[in-house]
Amino acid sequence: MKSKCPKCDGSIKLDPELHEEGDSVECEECGTELFVVRKGKKLSVAETFEEDEEELQEFA
Ligand SMILES: [Zn+2]
Repeated sequence: MKSKCPKCDGSIKLDPELHEEGDSVECEECGTELFVVRKGKKLSVAETFEEDEEELQEFA
């Protein structure tokens, strides 16, 4: 599964077996740290990771 870096449009490989929501991945093109987000059944990447309201955890 491939996704695109929001910074440089470089392709980022995402493997559902290896990556899950909230994991950080590094863009091989520009080195930006990105976070894996789940969109339906697909994995995508975002520059920031926002947790769903239903799963708020204390951040201490
Ligand atoms: Zn990039």
